[in-house]
Amino acid sequence: MRTISQIQVGLRAREFSAVEIAREALAHAERQNPSTNAFLSLSHERAIAAAEHVDAQLSAGGELGLLGGVPVAVKDVISTKGLKTTCGSRMLENYIPPYDATAIERLEAAGGVIIGKANCDEFAMGSSNENSAYGPVRNPVDLERVPGGSSGGSAAAVAQGSVPVSLGSDTGGSIRQPASFCGVVGVTPTYGRVSRYGLVAFASSLDHIGPFATNVSDAAALLQVIAGRDQMDATSAPVQVPDYLAALQNTDVRGMKVGVPVEYMRQATGDTAARIQESIQALRDLGCEVRDISLPNTEYAIAAYYIICTAEASANLARYDGVRYTARSKQSGTLHEMYANTRGEFFGPEVKRRIMLGTYVLSHGYYDAYYKKAQQVRALITRDFSNAFAEVDAIVAPVSPFPAFKIGEKVDDPVAMYLSDIYTITGSLAGIPCMSVPCGNTSEGLPVGLQILCGHFEESRMFQLANAFEKHRGNSAVQ
Ligand code: GLN
Repeated sequence: MRTISQIQVGLRAREFSAVEIAREALAHAERQNPSTNAFLSLSHERAIAAAEHVDAQLSAGGELGLLGGVPVAVKDVISTKGLKTTCGSRMLENYIPPYDATAIERLEAAGGVIIGKANCDEFAMGSSNENSAYGPVRNPVDLERVPGGSSGGSAAAVAQGSVPVSLGSDTGGSIRQPASFCGVVGVTPTYGRVSRYGLVAFASSLDHIGPFATNVSDAAALLQVIAGRDQMDATSAPVQVPDYLAALQNTDVRGMKVGVPVEYMRQATGDTAARIQESIQALRDLGCEVRDISLPNTEYAIAAYYIICTAEASANLARYDGVRYTARSKQSGTLHEMYANTRGEFFGPEVKRRIMLGTYVLSHGYYDAYYKKAQQVRALITRDFSNAFAEVDAIVAPVSPFPAFKIGEKVDDPVAMYLSDIYTITGSLAGIPCMSVPCGNTSEGLPVGLQILCGHFEESRMFQLANAFEKHRGNSAVQ
């Protein structure tokens, strides 16, 4: 698949039409799906209509939007009017949203062409995409392995070359970790940078929509389009969106102060640690001033995250009761039986586990011990980052302690699965922008991602560093 700029150059030169690009992307996705299962549905009609619109605009002498004619895959937790949005759940198997998420509206207004909905862990709960009710996604790099989660389908759709960019969601690592496992770029913007309107809620104080791409510049272009205040989401920030693509023109990162958290590096081992150390050396070669920093409350992050996210999930998922939106159990006598049977039949085991955990930590008498304590820990973790950013401009770290693991390897041990989120959860709790950029492979050929984290709303700086690093490596695409 071509990059955004290759598509746009070709469209302007009339080498191909947007409809041809859309058909190519749809056919590619269709061909790959039996092996990777990256897509839950393809949106032929909507894609062709959007592409025809772009072609008509071009023929009339109009300008191409930032995403004009670019095929995009969308994680199936983001509402698309008239297109099924299942959230990877049997509960929403036949749910067709009556409206588009703001990110979708903006993406289409910029000429983006949605070709389909990407597979994911049920309600975005997971780290491997094995919690999808519609079967796991297989990593295009190695079909025996997971693509990461929960946005596994969005990462795989880009890595397999069906689309140049896709949208995912990240609550505790669900964009960065699959990006690192599949060897693509994945960006979690600042909390509030992108409207959550139309993103099906998992843990509202942590949920973000963000882009995947084969290179930093394409990811920046997609974020450019979807970012900014939205009246429909009170938590979207009234902060001006800078010109990210202009920021990328500056590839000089000499003198940039980069911190490496000692608490993270202590735990990194094997090829992952080796690739991260080489990346740190590359940043030094680029003229960055690299130094150790401390994020002392890191060890409490997983415990705090799995209390906060389950608490919020237990409240958010209360709406799936068989009355509206959802499937309904046929074994229903009383109303209460209908609720219980519907939720029992149509939620998968991980979702049930989280609802039960969340309900427990919020229950009378336990609230202070769990939820309140977790929020206090969250404040400490956020403070760790503000202290660090008083000294450095950016932080680099691994994304995941290990590369893509085998399908089935961790399914029986939820705690082991949760522990794999160790490096991504801290940034999510603090609400800062963070991303994964490919930084090489293990000896088995599995991709490793370098995580870059910056202060609130400093995506430009983060992209600048990632772009300089990507150029230095001379490997800006997976394919
Ligand atoms: N793996 C984490 C979880 O299972 C993160 C999920 C996400 O970011 N949506 O909660």
